[in-house]
Amino acid sequence: MFCSYCGEKLPDTALFCHKCGAKIGSAPTVANKVKLILDRASQVYLVNPPIKAVVNGTIYVSIENGHTETVELDPGPCVVELSGSFRKAKLEFDLQKDTVIQIGFNRISGKLTATIK
Ligand SMILES: [Zn+2]
Repeated sequence: MFCSYCGEKLPDTALFCHKCGAKIGSAPTVANKVKLILDRASQVYLVNPPIKAVVNGTIYVSIENGHTETVELDPGPCVVELSGSFRKAKLEFDLQKDTVIQIGFNRISGKLTATIK
């Protein structure tokens, strides 16, 4: 048989490839990340400091007015905490596919809004 990673010819009893070290009989591991896309609306009428996003308590992102930031994550429960201009918003959802979160300030109330598209 042959190594499915590097193509090296191997004894049929091999458990690991002696050339590249790959485990035999397992498919190559594919990184199964999903994208969390933080899309901040462009709002020109307001004083617009960056909105800070904390994803899963560990990933810190700063989103400028009209900008989009993308974070790659493992699928699963996702918590996004947003803060800007003393306003806060929090989203908790199950992230299973590429997801866009539309972020902005409500023009009337000034409230920070975050909507999963
Ligand atoms: Zn190999």
